[in-house]
Amino acid sequence: MLLKSIELSGFKSFAKKSLFSFTSRVTGIVGPNGSGKSNVAESFRFVLGEQSIKSLRGKRGEDLIWNGNENAPRANRAGVKVVFDNSKKFLSIDFPEVTIERVVHRDGNNEYFINGSQVRLKDITELLSSANIGSSGHHIISQGEADRILSATVKERKGMIEDALGLKAYQYKKEESIRKLDKTRENIDKVSSLRREIAPHIKFLKKQVEKIEKGEAMRRELSERYEEYLAREFAYIEKEEHEIKTKTKPLDEKLKELDKTIEKLKAVISEEKTETRSSELIEKEALLQAVRKEREALVLEQGRVSGEERSIERLLSDERRRHEQNEHKTVPLREVESALSRLEAESQTDGLTVSLLWSKVKEIVGGLIHTYREEVDDARAKEFEGELKELRKKTEEIKQKLEELNQKETDARRAYEQVRQSIEAEKDEKRDSEKEIFKLLAERQEVTSALHDLHMRLETWRRADADFKQEITEGHVLIGTSILDYKNNVDTYKNANEERSIQEERRKQIERIKIRLEDMGAGGGADILNEYKQANERDEFLAGELIDLEKSVESLTSLIKDLETELEVKFKTGLEKINSQFNEFFSLMFGGGTAGLKVVKEAKRKRKLFDLEGEDSEESSGDEEETQEYDEGVDVDVSLPRKRIKGLMMLSGGERALTSIALLFAISQVNPPPFIILDETDAALDEANSKKYGDMIETLASKSQLILITHNRETMSRAGSIYGVTMGKDGVSKLLSISFDEASEVAK
Ligand code: ATP
Repeated sequence: MLLKSIELSGFKSFAKKSLFSFTSRVTGIVGPNGSGKSNVAESFRFVLGEQSIKSLRGKRGEDLIWNGNENAPRANRAGVKVVFDNSKKFLSIDFPEVTIERVVHRDGNNEYFINGSQVRLKDITELLSSANIGSSGHHIISQGEADRILSATVKERKGMIEDALGLKAYQYKKEESIRKLDKTRENIDKVSSLRREIAPHIKFLKKQVEKIEKGEAMRRELSERYEEYLAREFAYIEKEEHEIKTKTKPLDEKLKELDKTIEKLKAVISEEKTETRSSELIEKEALLQAVRKEREALVLEQGRVSGEERSIERLLSDERRRHEQNEHKTVPLREVESALSRLEAESQTDGLTVSLLWSKVKEIVGGLIHTYREEVDDARAKEFEGELKELRKKTEEIKQKLEELNQKETDARRAYEQVRQSIEAEKDEKRDSEKEIFKLLAERQEVTSALHDLHMRLETWRRADADFKQEITEGHVLIGTSILDYKNNVDTYKNANEERSIQEERRKQIERIKIRLEDMGAGGGADILNEYKQANERDEFLAGELIDLEKSVESLTSLIKDLETELEVKFKTGLEKINSQFNEFFSLMFGGGTAGLKVVKEAKRKRKLFDLEGEDSEESSGDEEETQEYDEGVDVDVSLPRKRIKGLMMLSGGERALTSIALLFAISQVNPPPFIILDETDAALDEANSKKYGDMIETLASKSQLILITHNRETMSRAGSIYGVTMGKDGVSKLLSISFDEASEVAK
């Protein structure tokens, strides 16, 4: 037996733990009305995962739990445990025995277990559907539900048949795939719209990044240009400074020296010597004049004295002539010659004046005369002689003085000449100094002009130096510390000697790049790059996602198609088999006639595709357009023997019951479930039909284990074992294993 047992505890009227063991192919459950038999059938649905409380005759989960009364308190949970023999692996789980358990709590919460381990409902559903048993399946026919297969719509009927054919698993798969497909398409929409949303931002960022990259390239170019420009500029500035200094120093010295010399010369020129010299000259001249005047006066005096002397001498001579007798006295020649010789000798004397000579002559000749004349002792002569003597003495004094004056004049003239000459010399000296000053001033002019040039150069140098420093400050803002890289290249240009205009051209180029960079504006480069990178990565990721999603749409669509094809094929072949069984059972039941199922199409309302929520085992086409769609369904055709009745509407209650049983059994025959529970399916049958029913039960039992809830003796008679269900005054269902004979008693 595949179905080994079921245990109810707290489930509906089964307040206490009650265990049904199924040891025969056919088990009967009998008991009076309201004792709780149907609750057993429902406990099967419950434990197999039924989600519709309504179909379990309740409103809430709580309604399934023993409600309690004055004798027995209500339970907090209802639990049902079913045990299968899985030694033949009819359930695809690697256990020889499988226990499935479901518990519902008062708060409505459910718990599911497989072999004691808590699982999800889905796990149970999947496990069971593979074995062709399910909660609301065709294999549990509740009381009054035998008719359901006939009263159902064609579409519902089709679902039931699919279920019975074991196509539920495919349906689940298909639905699941459709759900996945929908979800995937939703995701495609989401991802696409996300990409659309971020696209403008990426575009914006891309532009920014391009700008930044352009800026970077310009900065690199600027860096390179700076490196050469600054290195050259630095070399130039150093060299220029050195040159200016070395050239300025000797010129400064020279200028100082020139100024000193010029000062000296100017001092010479401005010296007020000449005036003192002139007064000195005048003084000297006055002195000379004075000496000359004195001499002239003295000469006049000499003349006067000499005249006086001569007149006295005449007087004396006259006196003497008168007195001298020997006027003709002779003088020896020798004496005269001697006197002459002496005179001659005297006349040779230097500076001999006439008066002096005269006095010599007189002296010599007088001496001669004196020697040879006789002295006349006369008073007058004597007086004359005294005067003469006085005069001669005076003459002698004058002569003396004249000589002195002559000397004095010579000295004065010499002194005058000296002063005059020194004045001339001074004049010459000044003239030379002036000439020298002119020469030096010209030279000075040259030096100052050279110095002026150097000062101009220094000014230019200062500006260049300041500009250089300013350039480094500005460049640092634009290219950072690499602005200092020029230092490595200074040596290269140390001796470079090029036109300044070339360097100036370089500076202009740099200026142009700087302006462009400034126009561009400084952006948070790294941030933007990073953001762009991230946005791009995200977009690429989304693009990848899209590709994956499209792939999954493709594979899901093809999976759905495959499933549909498989379903169609399986359904068709299954339906054919059912039809032949149905026809067979039907004619067996009615002693002839025909019955069959046919596939029909019903137009269904227009609806949006993939709006499948809430839809059950419905077929879905993979088309993506809104089209007129049809629901496929299954209709029942019957034709009773000897009666002109066609169609279900015209059948009697019993006929209808027989037809539905024939159909249910036919379905069960094609894909036999491990067990079938029939809750008073036989209620409407008369004795003759009960027998036929009993026969079909036996046929059915060869393929599926049967649990029959019944009041029918015929049916009971076909059961291998029977459980009696009774309910005492306490409202609790009780279980007892009974014999066939006891069964009819219990059933009452
Ligand atoms: P019949 O032969 O008339 O079909 P039955 O044996 O199938 O009767 P059930 O329908 O299984 O009887 O049992 C119904 C009984 O179960 C009722 O008496 C009802 O009061 C009881 N019952 C249902 N739910 C609960 C519950 N939650 N707690 C207690 N008793 C309950």
